[in-house]
Amino acid sequence: MSDLDMTRITDNLMKVYNYAFIEDMPYGFFKPNDAMYVGVRLVDKRYHCPKCGREFTIKFRNDNDGITYFSKSRIAAQREIYDSLELDFPAQWELLEKPFTYHTIGVCSECAEKTILSSEEAGQQIYNLCHRLHMQDELLSAKAVKLMTDAVKKWVDGITESSFLLQFDLSTHDNLRDLVCAVILQDATGVEAALQEYRDTIQPIIYQARKLLINQPPTWKAMVAHSSSLPMSLSDDEYHEYTVAFPADDTRGQDFYSEQSVIKERVEMFLEQRRCASLEEVLMDAGFHEEWIDMVVDKGTSLQK
Ligand SMILES: [Zn+2]
Repeated sequence: MSDLDMTRITDNLMKVYNYAFIEDMPYGFFKPNDAMYVGVRLVDKRYHCPKCGREFTIKFRNDNDGITYFSKSRIAAQREIYDSLELDFPAQWELLEKPFTYHTIGVCSECAEKTILSSEEAGQQIYNLCHRLHMQDELLSAKAVKLMTDAVKKWVDGITESSFLLQFDLSTHDNLRDLVCAVILQDATGVEAALQEYRDTIQPIIYQARKLLINQPPTWKAMVAHSSSLPMSLSDDEYHEYTVAFPADDTRGQDFYSEQSVIKERVEMFLEQRRCASLEEVLMDAGFHEEWIDMVVDKGTSLQK
């Protein structure tokens, strides 16, 4: 657990997943020009699921004085959605002056359970498998941190005498860190079991996705989930600080599906990524958390009182 500089396997997996399914535009820093972009006082986003009639709204953070820049094609696309919802689209001057709601039409997570997730169509199945794999990748990482924290807590809770801690040299941060690592390593069966479960779960997912992929064309359309808590880009070709809207910090993430192009090469790349395979890798990937040291120090302090 010493090599802090290594790129986390999990971070890399998230990046590749986002590259394949979420956002793949280069990020730049410059102010959008008026010829190509329209300033909009964007305040919130309303999701519509025509299948069940469910609607919900999320609020955006008030960055850049509340103005987000839309590429002109995005304005045109919004106008069409307003039309299909039979709403009046604001005049050009109103976009900059009055609060604007972005509307999106798709499939809510509840309807997706009944239709998209049980789809027999290969292209959709491949996406569904990748999405499940992505969630497993995230889950292992979260589980490992939780189990490691539990191991430290269990050890700390078992200490009843301050003399017990005196047998260790805890005078430096490095020493404390080594002690915590040793505690975690001696109680790693939980993490080992989580890793085994992860491997057993992901193997058939990857196998099945690869098998389906063989006969797929280079690109196809599928219903892809985006969480409502993720930033939204309002530019088609490039995104930068002025064209990205960030949901308010307290936004509850809900998956919402819409049709999107899927690129075979990127799916392959996501499936081929290196994933945690050993206990050491899982522990290293979870990283060291300073709160573990605090737990030991707090215990020492409380016993000395
Ligand atoms: Zn629905």
